Amino acid sequence: MNEDQNQDNNSRRRFLKLGLLAGAGTVATGAIIATSNSQAHESGEKIKVLTTNGEVMEVDKNYLSMAPVGIKESHEGIPGRKFVMVIDLAKCKNARKCVEECQKGHNLPKGQEFMKVYLMQDSEKTAPYWFPKPCYHCDNPQCVSVCPVGATYKRTDGIVLIDNERCIGCKFCMTGCPYSTRIFAWNHEEAFESDQVYSPEKSVPGVEGTVSKCDFCPDLAREGKLPYCASACPMGVIYFGDIDEDVVTNGVETYKFSELIRDRSGYQYLENLGTRPNVYYLPPVDRQFPVERGYDGLEDDIKARYDETPFVQKLKHEEEK
Ligand code: SF4
Ligand code: SF4
Repeated sequence: MNEDQNQDNNSRRRFLKLGLLAGAGTVATGAIIATSNSQAHESGEKIKVLTTNGEVMEVDKNYLSMAPVGIKESHEGIPGRKFVMVIDLAKCKNARKCVEECQKGHNLPKGQEFMKVYLMQDSEKTAPYWFPKPCYHCDNPQCVSVCPVGATYKRTDGIVLIDNERCIGCKFCMTGCPYSTRIFAWNHEEAFESDQVYSPEKSVPGVEGTVSKCDFCPDLAREGKLPYCASACPMGVIYFGDIDEDVVTNGVETYKFSELIRDRSGYQYLENLGTRPNVYYLPPVDRQFPVERGYDGLEDDIKARYDETPFVQKLKHEEEK
């Protein structure tokens, strides 16, 4: 193993080590035995838990879930972290697993998506490609500057979050965001119902009449895990990591962030706006799949989103012949 690979592996271990804190034999502070897990089957793996009266007790891993962090910590961010995401457009085939797992993880009803996949085509003469778009967690977030009540804020770890208990639903932030990543909860959906304690780090229970968006899954990051979208993608399109540690991983491959961006000509979407996004794209050169692979099997309402692209118009034209 060369020195670079060694450094990559060490960085990856550092990034993932938080996830091991709740391993057998350790004391998981801040943990609760969740009522929602009371029907869980025993795993056989015991974890020591520090109770509120200072006693250490052993519980089965499956009966344990981490308590959501309080409002103060959720405003401050995870100490010593600066998160970044890299999306490899050459590998995306619109499998939509990122969208689906994100929706499940955030209890979002059908039709509400934090991760959206666009079909991009610059002109009739250029090749189309799939373009996953989460929130960019900008370092100069326009949404934060326009919020009149401080309900959306930028944390030390780079994450832009929304406190839905403070949000008044004015939608100024939706107008302020140049990337249209925010969505509004018009109705109280059944899927929003939950017995979980509210925390801005966990977007359940959702709050009707407020705004929400991709949150970079801070509750998972606190445990050293990848966001739902990154671990769900079968093509390994989405890398997540720490810009200060200079490391990103999709769970299988790990790269030095700076080298990946330099070697693959990584870019930020509409960087000329001065928003300084923390999501980078690797251009769709040498694409691994024809774009049709991600279009043919789609449901009609999703297909309809792409009707305006030259690629779809050409397909329809050929069908009519
Ligand atoms: S909708 Fe909520 S988060 Fe957005 S600007 Fe208004 S109060 Fe702030
Ligand atoms: S980072 Fe989390 S919230 Fe954002 S798109 Fe991925 S899964 Fe959804």
